[in-house]
Amino acid sequence: MTQKISILGCTGSIGVSTLDVIARHPDRFQAIALSAGSNLDLLLKQIHQHHPRLVSVKTEEEAGQLRKLLDDPSIEVIYGSEGAVRVATTDEADMVVSAIVGAAGLLPTLSALQRGKTVGLANKESMVIAGELMRQTASRTGADLLPIDSEHSALFQCLQGNRKEDVKRLILTASGGPFLNRPRSDFDSITVAEALQHPNWSMGAKITIDSATMMNKGLEIMEARWLFDVIIDKISVLIHPQSLVHSLVEYRDGSVMAQLGVPDMRVPIAYALSYPERIESGAESLDLFKQGRLDFFEPDFEKFPCLALAYEVARKGLTYPAVLNAANEIAVAAFLEKKISFVDIEKVNRKTVEAHHPKKVTSLEDILEADRWGRGEATKNL
Ligand code: NDP
Ligand code: MG
Repeated sequence: MTQKISILGCTGSIGVSTLDVIARHPDRFQAIALSAGSNLDLLLKQIHQHHPRLVSVKTEEEAGQLRKLLDDPSIEVIYGSEGAVRVATTDEADMVVSAIVGAAGLLPTLSALQRGKTVGLANKESMVIAGELMRQTASRTGADLLPIDSEHSALFQCLQGNRKEDVKRLILTASGGPFLNRPRSDFDSITVAEALQHPNWSMGAKITIDSATMMNKGLEIMEARWLFDVIIDKISVLIHPQSLVHSLVEYRDGSVMAQLGVPDMRVPIAYALSYPERIESGAESLDLFKQGRLDFFEPDFEKFPCLALAYEVARKGLTYPAVLNAANEIAVAAFLEKKISFVDIEKVNRKTVEAHHPKKVTSLEDILEADRWGRGEATKNL
């Protein structure tokens, strides 16, 4: 029987890689529902290749446009946040790949978990802002939550067959991004084009900027905290510029397990899709002879204050992570639009977090409210 997959964010970098893996295994997977944003050209190509029954786009107008272009009443076209939620919860889907960027991914991802669907999670922001709620929901409905983020997939793989009580430390590797070797005194002159040049990974714009500020690793420690139910003090970051060791788990006996591979997101995507089996992903073999060396360094928290701020916020908990995430989304969007400088991203984030009066999270509404507040405050701080 084929496994039926819904994809949230099908037109993004992760969405495209997911459809590539699916296309390699037509007897095994079928993409039955797709949720895009506004990239109708790409969506149309995906529809012609994969024949989903349900498709969602961002706006009503885009839905109208797409219906005309398709001229096929057997494909249902819906839109907006409710559209994405329907793609995530459609009865037919056995699994949902969550790959919308930002907090916009939260409602559909949470809805999928509420329905008991297996979720392959790329959308780290939902885990950062609502990790506890997502965990509780998954355990209540029995939904499996499988990581797609490469570091978390590596940790998940290194945890297989071991007991959680024996874990001493989770070690997330980080490439260090394009400015690892640029002096901090030159950060004022960083351009958008330079920040978009990631040395090892080809990804969407937002996560690429997050990698340049190292906020991405900050979000990832919070993602790991909730995915694996491990306290923040047991999660550390290791700079590894080659991005071949994707993360490590240290156990109490001194053993350290690592997962390696070429930097290709199809590897963690394929593992989430086929777990606990393994299938071909299309990735190249890792040739360590050719690579020659693996380097590791400690992160520089002064040079990358976003990482330090994320650790502070992760320890504080409450509504702080939702506010930091919201501020960062606003700041990164403003940087990409050339409204603020690269170093302004960290300033907007800190100022917003410092102005926040935190609240205990007892419901989804508390998170959504903190997200709204963070966006408003960050916009004032631009
Ligand atoms: P992209 O920017 O490439 O893609 C984002 C996708 O989300 C697109 O399909 C876009 O639609 C859609 N989208 C954006 N906003 C909305 C919205 N408001 N409602 C509905 N759909 C929306 O991002 P990535 O694929 O790079 O990243 C996706 C997620 O995966 C992020 O959370 C990121 O942190 C995470 N991730 C990504 C990795 C990577 O290698 N790319 C690695 C690890 C994690 P459209 O383009 O049609 O407008
Ligand atoms: Mg990652």
